[in-house]
Amino acid sequence: MLRFGRRALIGAGLFAVAAPALASAGTLTSATLAASRGRARLSIAVTGSQRWSIRATDDPLRLVLHMPEASWRGATTLRGAGPVRAARFVAADDTLVLDLTGPALPVAGPARAGHIVLDIARAPAPRFAAAVRAGRDVLAGTARNTALPLVVLDPGHGGRDPGAIGATGVQEKRIVLAAALELKRRLEAARTCRVLLTRSRDVFVPLADRVEIARRRDAALFVSLHADSAPGARGASVYTLAETATDSMSAALAIRENRADLAGGLRLPSVSPEVQRILISLIRQETRAGSHRLARLAVRELGEEVQLLPNTHREAAFVVLKSPDIPSALVELGFLSDRRDEAALQQRAHRARLSLALSRAVKQWLDAAPTG
Ligand SMILES: [Zn+2]
Repeated sequence: MLRFGRRALIGAGLFAVAAPALASAGTLTSATLAASRGRARLSIAVTGSQRWSIRATDDPLRLVLHMPEASWRGATTLRGAGPVRAARFVAADDTLVLDLTGPALPVAGPARAGHIVLDIARAPAPRFAAAVRAGRDVLAGTARNTALPLVVLDPGHGGRDPGAIGATGVQEKRIVLAAALELKRRLEAARTCRVLLTRSRDVFVPLADRVEIARRRDAALFVSLHADSAPGARGASVYTLAETATDSMSAALAIRENRADLAGGLRLPSVSPEVQRILISLIRQETRAGSHRLARLAVRELGEEVQLLPNTHREAAFVVLKSPDIPSALVELGFLSDRRDEAALQQRAHRARLSLALSRAVKQWLDAAPTG
């Protein structure tokens, strides 16, 4: 069935359901129907890739565009144009139904990356009747989006929440923002991906918003950057989500990180342990596998450049890693509680090594990721 995106379609009387995009199907982000010289041009924007086919029916006169497994975000009806009286998406059938004012058939419109474009023109009645009798697709194709994948970088803390503070007063929020900006520049320069930061200034961003920024834009990957304090810990480390932490240090880090909203002045209703468990059980297996693959790559590449914390890949229940559909990892670039890490993290050359390692890990992850 046609799966509706996270943006609620409440106005159309439909329920919004979280719809993780399948590799084989795209997300339809907008659609237009415009009249031009007696024709109607239908244009549907697609993220990822989307197969489609269109047939004619005569009782009533219709064209039916089938888009298997598509997720849809946006209005569910389109105002008519040219020979099309009106169009509406029918979720249960994965279709866009175009009601016609008279016999009309589609031809392929101008090719446009990431779009299904069809020109619908009036047709002689016998030709339309023949197309209906044939019972086959009049046209079919696959729309592909050639845009680079989007990676969301999440510099932790910000604004009223400074994060960890080193012995010489260095603030985590400043270190991780500098590192994120450097990693962004490197990834963009290599044309590896598009990059979006959850914050590019010294502002407070609630944890849930950080996750939502990535989900709303269908990010391929989410990487949170930190440099916390943990007694006795030194070196870089990488964390993925798990209900039960691998060790007490990781558990303490997650508890501290998850309090960032309070530090920033937000008062949130606390979530019961039961709800937490349900949330985490929703994390899909493939998302978990993707997160672990990223962590392995990051550990390997960081190990080439900087000192690592022993047992470098760890797990704990970090709120920012809870996207059910976006592979996510949290990188502790080092620990501001360690004087040597604190000194290193202030050096541009050290941060350049960190961003080089992480950019290689992201590139390798994307190179091996299934494409839409
Ligand atoms: Zn932190």
